[in-house]
Amino acid sequence: MKALYVLEDSTIINSQGEIIFFSLEKFINDIAKGDCCFICGASPTEKKFNNEHIIPDWILRRFDLYNKQIKLPNGSYIYYRQYVIPCCEDCNSLLGKEIEVPISELLSLSYKEIIERIHLDNDLVYLIFRWLSLIYLKTNLKDKFLLADRGTRTGSKKIGDSHIWEDIHHIHCIARSHYTKAKIDYNVFGTIFIFPALNLEENNTFDYIDNSAAKVVMVQIDDFCIVAVLNDACAGFTLWKNMFMRITGPLSPFQKREIISHLIYINLHLKERPTFYSSFTENGTYEIKAKIPKQVELIESENEVISIGTLLHLYVKDIMSEFDGKNEVLESIRLGKRGYLFNQNGDFINHS
Ligand SMILES: [Zn+2]
Repeated sequence: MKALYVLEDSTIINSQGEIIFFSLEKFINDIAKGDCCFICGASPTEKKFNNEHIIPDWILRRFDLYNKQIKLPNGSYIYYRQYVIPCCEDCNSLLGKEIEVPISELLSLSYKEIIERIHLDNDLVYLIFRWLSLIYLKTNLKDKFLLADRGTRTGSKKIGDSHIWEDIHHIHCIARSHYTKAKIDYNVFGTIFIFPALNLEENNTFDYIDNSAAKVVMVQIDDFCIVAVLNDACAGFTLWKNMFMRITGPLSPFQKREIISHLIYINLHLKERPTFYSSFTENGTYEIKAKIPKQVELIESENEVISIGTLLHLYVKDIMSEFDGKNEVLESIRLGKRGYLFNQNGDFINHS
């Protein structure tokens, strides 16, 4: 029998003093706004710290990204080698062993091989989901160090100041579940799609996008991309599966962004949201569970600032090359009159 102890603020520790569950208050004070290790919660005064790469080291090595730059939410760029957050040495090693080693083995395979492996062992999907939760958590934690106003560099407001940490608390529980050994209920997992994708630079394609508010994450590695919604309990899958079934070829960068736009839109417009909670049994078992709405429905509203068109416009405007009439094309995308996935007959537009 494993003994657990509840502290005054509802944080739960085990008999070794390890934090099994962070109260919301402790998560915000120690992790989101403080400088404690984002996995175990240790202070830099009590343990040795080093840096954890936000985009994992095996990806940086494989795609030779150390001296390349990633675009940040404030529009500025940072070298991948500097895109790190502090982490205690023990947790950094544990992340490598428990998450990055098995994930790098799996995601070094081709699209076809990965799908075959998942058919044999469905738990691999959940491993991928936990890995994406971890990357999302790290990008959001990094935002607490980055100035919101890239122009002046004089303001003190950070990108992370506008994050709603209450909503990220649940993703923190998922991202550290390898440490707490929490059992994650099947209902907790969100939408996750794995698509074949066009490999634009001959075995050298890596791409990463996340949307902090909608908790949508996309990663492309060579010939496949994975898109996940971290807190929708599969609402996006429910509403979008008919479109998904119509995709019959590898995705172009524009098509990938259209899917991201749909999933962001859905997750920001759910009439009723799933809620997540941690549950503990008397014998010390920790389970992360979800309460799911009976029906998945969207809020109906017109003339919205956030539409699928405005989202797609946001994500494609920077990757579109220059051509005559570009502004008109962008405007019709913004108005939702133009897309990349399907033609007028509703057939998938295959670029392969
Ligand atoms: Zn730690």
